[in-house]
Amino acid sequence: MRAEQTEEIRALARAVKQHAEALVVWKLEAMPVSRGTGSKTSALRRVEQEVIACRRCALYRTRTHHVFGEGSPEAKLVFVGEAPGREEDFQGRPFVGAAGQLLTKMIESIGLQRREVYICNVLKDRPPGNRTPEPEEIAACLPFLERQLVLLKPKVICALGAIAAKALLGSGISITSIRGEIHEYLGIPLVPTFHPAYLLRNPSAKRLAWRDLKRVKALLESNT
Ligand code: URA
Repeated sequence: MRAEQTEEIRALARAVKQHAEALVVWKLEAMPVSRGTGSKTSALRRVEQEVIACRRCALYRTRTHHVFGEGSPEAKLVFVGEAPGREEDFQGRPFVGAAGQLLTKMIESIGLQRREVYICNVLKDRPPGNRTPEPEEIAACLPFLERQLVLLKPKVICALGAIAAKALLGSGISITSIRGEIHEYLGIPLVPTFHPAYLLRNPSAKRLAWRDLKRVKALLESNT
């Protein structure tokens, strides 16, 4: 068997495993089929209500607002960041600070508008002082992100930074070694790239991020 075939079989096995795990998590017999924007919007709203009521970790105590996510329920592309920062916590919207301005430019650089994509985070509440999320906080919040992604069913997911990539692909990975490659989450192609906040601190990495975004664009435009 050729090496690519072995890798394809492994990727398929991973996708089947993730799919089966999601069915168990959500106590479903099959993944929900999209029944149009209205029902998707209301299903997303129901998940958001659960986020508001969530007490699985202590972050609700220090938040000003929860930050569920925003964008088109019909988005073909979903960006997943790490966690709300100060500005996002104030406004209750994802990526509205300096990193958000860069993310908006990144989205526009591939010919899309912010309102056409969907933007969310692994954590729905801000960790105090913008500290790195704790593994327990990620584990507590991840089911909400999984449900968002199952409902949105985008064509491509773009993971912004190590926390998002590790949350979706497994904690053993290193962002520098996997960025730009095409991975899969629940059978959906996932491209990890640098977090915009990292790009603000390391502008020389923008060249690589641009390459990753071109890969995202190619996947969006592909017929598969
Ligand atoms: N950084 C993130 O990861 N998410 C936001 O919403 C803002 C900054």
